[in-house]
Amino acid sequence: MKAAKNYKFWFCTGSQDLYGDECLAHVAEHSRIIVEALNKSGVLPHEIVWKPTLITNELIRKTFNEANADEECAGVITWMHTFSPAKSWILGLQEFRKPLLHLHTQFNREIPYDTIDMDFMNENQSAHGDREYGHIVSRMGIERKVIVGHWEDPAVQQRIASWMLTAIGIMESSHVRVCRVADNMRNVAVTEGDKVEAQIKFGWEIDAYPINEIAEYVAAVPKNEIDTLVEEYYSKYDILLEGRDEKEFREHVAVQAGIEIGFEKFLEEKDYQAIVTHFGDLGALKQLPGLAIQRLMEKGYGFGAEGDWKTAAMVRIMKIMTAGVKNPKGTSFMEDYTYNLVPGKEGILQAHMLEVCPTIADGPIGIKVCPLSMGDREDPARLVYTAKTGPAVATSLIDLGNRFRLIINDVECKKVEKPMPKLPVATAFWTPQPNLQVGAEAWILAGGAHHTAFSYDLTAEQMGDWANAMGIEAVYIDKDTTIRNFKRDLQLGNVVYR
Ligand code: MN
Repeated sequence: MKAAKNYKFWFCTGSQDLYGDECLAHVAEHSRIIVEALNKSGVLPHEIVWKPTLITNELIRKTFNEANADEECAGVITWMHTFSPAKSWILGLQEFRKPLLHLHTQFNREIPYDTIDMDFMNENQSAHGDREYGHIVSRMGIERKVIVGHWEDPAVQQRIASWMLTAIGIMESSHVRVCRVADNMRNVAVTEGDKVEAQIKFGWEIDAYPINEIAEYVAAVPKNEIDTLVEEYYSKYDILLEGRDEKEFREHVAVQAGIEIGFEKFLEEKDYQAIVTHFGDLGALKQLPGLAIQRLMEKGYGFGAEGDWKTAAMVRIMKIMTAGVKNPKGTSFMEDYTYNLVPGKEGILQAHMLEVCPTIADGPIGIKVCPLSMGDREDPARLVYTAKTGPAVATSLIDLGNRFRLIINDVECKKVEKPMPKLPVATAFWTPQPNLQVGAEAWILAGGAHHTAFSYDLTAEQMGDWANAMGIEAVYIDKDTTIRNFKRDLQLGNVVYR
């Protein structure tokens, strides 16, 4: 699995030449100190690269175009130390095509009451300069993030770190290629969508292959490779025979090992980072890819079941956004399955037929071989476990016919009250914010799908900023949601994104 590039972010400080060389020397020195401190903080997932102070139209334009051309540059952080006439920024901003952060900070934290004079004020006037700069970015309608506060404040550093992951998601979106080895499940609406528009909006390439083309790769996997991988499974996971014959069980597991190796070879050779399958369209495959898909998701591939390419691409993007997160809790394809409606214990049991990513597992992971209630193949092997607890975000990207909408729901993951010994799939259980009644009502009003791309390691703010950068509608369902306001959000979206 190809990881994201070694991305860096450029730090560009704005000023002008009215204040003299001494002032400009201070500006450069201060911005260097800030960049160094941010890099040393240990908070940021990516390095910041200091750039010489921008004071002329020519230099600003040249710098932004160099940022465009540098494949490792994932975005530019701008800050006006002094006043910087914003017309100087127009051409550079117009030609800039990468994520933009406006860090509205100031070198000194406190007003130096005893010594402050006009020279000090002219040198340290971000409150003034950043407003002039902000005006032109707003007037030009350029999407950017604004973060306010002192650069040494851990909360500010945390927000920069968070924005960096959004920027990676924006940069990587146009490198997502989804392999469809099955079409959308017959008659299903919400997983459908306009693939041409998706490429225009998100940059995704979405291609179809006959299922048997990938099945040939599976059939061609050498036995010794399968044996080695089965050994790895047996050493890593608990083998839950549950009365099945040991030899027969192992043969079923070996089928998934062959699928994992064959699929990965196919995806690597053809450069795809996400895949969809469909239980009703398996061609020469002996089993629905279960354990195999779970392992591929763990390696960073996006996945959507029943031909759901939108969710597959979103899972891939969210996985690559979280690649820079320390101690990640996990990101997966997920499906709303069944409710617990007992008062005070409301929640949605999350699962799929098989395909839930083991990165979200809490505790030991087991392998089971069980019949599938749908389809006409062998009993597939799958990984089973329960998911971690804590806050997370569930997203659903839908096509409304005239536009895409991203629905973003804050959820609280919990343990179910009792074990579910007869349920042979990995599960999570969550209560949507603000509660099940309002959360589910809002989700349904927004047209959200049963499939979601889910992560413990991303926030609604990050996903909403990503959607804004893509130029699509984002709606939030969180602790502040009321149905009356949410309906107004949807109505406003109908006007804005018409
Ligand atoms: Mn499904």
